[in-house]
Amino acid sequence: MAKVDYSQFSKLSPFELKDNLINLAASHRDRLMLNAGRGNPNFLATLPRRAFFQLGLFATAESELSFSFMPEGVGGYPRSDGLISRFDTFIAQHTDRPGVVFLGKALSYVRDQLGLDPHAFLLEMVEGILGCNYPVPDRMLRLSEEVVKEYIAREMGAPGMDHESFDLFAVEGGTAAMAYIFNTLKQNKLISKGDKIAIGAPIFTPYLEIPELAEYQLEQVLIEADPNLGWQYPLSELKKLEDPSIKAFFLVNPSNPPSVKLNDESLAAIAEIVRKRPDLILLTDDVYGTFADNFKSLFASCPNNTILVYSFSKYFGATGWRLGVIALSKDNVLDKALGNLSDADKTELDERYSTLTTEPRKIKFIDRLVADSRAVALNHTAGLSTPQQVQMVLFSLFNMMDARQDYKEALKTLVRRREAALYDQLGLPRESDPNSVDYYTLVDMESTCRKLWGDGFADWVLKTQNPTEVLFRVADETGVILLPGSGFGVLHPSGRASLANLQEYQYAAIGKSLRKLAEEYYEEFKKSGGK
Ligand SMILES: *Cc1c(COP(=O)(O)O)cnc(C)c1O
Repeated sequence: MAKVDYSQFSKLSPFELKDNLINLAASHRDRLMLNAGRGNPNFLATLPRRAFFQLGLFATAESELSFSFMPEGVGGYPRSDGLISRFDTFIAQHTDRPGVVFLGKALSYVRDQLGLDPHAFLLEMVEGILGCNYPVPDRMLRLSEEVVKEYIAREMGAPGMDHESFDLFAVEGGTAAMAYIFNTLKQNKLISKGDKIAIGAPIFTPYLEIPELAEYQLEQVLIEADPNLGWQYPLSELKKLEDPSIKAFFLVNPSNPPSVKLNDESLAAIAEIVRKRPDLILLTDDVYGTFADNFKSLFASCPNNTILVYSFSKYFGATGWRLGVIALSKDNVLDKALGNLSDADKTELDERYSTLTTEPRKIKFIDRLVADSRAVALNHTAGLSTPQQVQMVLFSLFNMMDARQDYKEALKTLVRRREAALYDQLGLPRESDPNSVDYYTLVDMESTCRKLWGDGFADWVLKTQNPTEVLFRVADETGVILLPGSGFGVLHPSGRASLANLQEYQYAAIGKSLRKLAEEYYEEFKKSGGK
């Protein structure tokens, strides 16, 4: 086999690099490629999907109650009168179908536990799943918002949060949320070219790239998590946020790739900083919050300063569904900042939103997000498709109705067993950390070598081996794809393995491959005279 010059790959960005890693790993036909680069989970919630499809069948039959004199295939709007009794009959007729049984329980849960009007809710679901009207209200369907608010409050560590105190905007996933938020912050002059924003690092790569785009050109101040503190942010780093020229702090919590949630001290420290800096905008992407034990979002601890982004993609195995929400308190720093803009800026924005209302200054930030998502002029067609909102509601109900949280525990056990399989084969003990979420793991080159065969070996590896080249060698020789931590702003040479995408035995194989490579380096090290 021709020897590959791995150094040619050192300059690539992490996602291009991934493609090259895949090519190299797949170039050996006799061997399986193990792509641990993908964050896309290989598990998914089936019961709420069964419920979705069963509801779809019921709703279609409801539609066909109208225009029944017409040829087959023509239906009308579902009829409100008698809807619940027809639904009860449907449930009673199909007790052998888990999705139908779930739907029956869901309606009772919505009525008895959430205190919502069951008839209005069912009508919203039936109309929604048929997708026969534009989403109205465009920000989110009315009762869908109530259900998802309850889910968000519970899962983000704010159980009992008053539904009246915040709003949701249903969007096409967490990444759409981020794109919308950045755009509206800019259009509304809340961030401008050259402004400073703080970013919690390491972080999901695109989030380092967005602020650098030509239309934003923001100055980034990195708030670096410390691996020696279990990837928490040191107080000295958080203190940077006291600088009044920093407009916003942007973070992923629990983090990606370290996969650790903010601990209580960090939450308290940020709350303290916000007391000194009541204008600071916190923008938090909490997609992994549902995998953490006792999770508490900044949305729970600093509700007035925080824009929360939550995505259903990971926890429900639903990346293809494109489901996410933006949550914002009604009393929030963004609306205050809009009120404090200069008269010239306000006049310019009056123009921007004048087609929507006669009092554009009263449009809240969250409704500006909705309008801006359709270039304002097309505001009347904004909003997440109604069938998507129905699936979002069913996912949320599935979580809330699971009193013992069996699904959540099953997923946590699944990723943690995969992690144990990897590190057992690598020959490293795992230290347990209550803040760790274990959706990803970072294999740190230096500390791994140190733990295996001591300081001399670790120093030699760091000095003689290029970390990117190591990842290419891993891909080439073992078929294992890890992404470089450096691409996510990790300062130490490391590889990120997603624990979500492969089977347990494959994680063991990854551990074994890494162990084999480490042993080869160790032999080289000894030959070179190292001890
Ligand atoms: C996977 C992931 C998401 C999910 O984004 P969607 O657009 O909802 O699929 C969001 N944020 C982070 C940090 C992620 O890793």
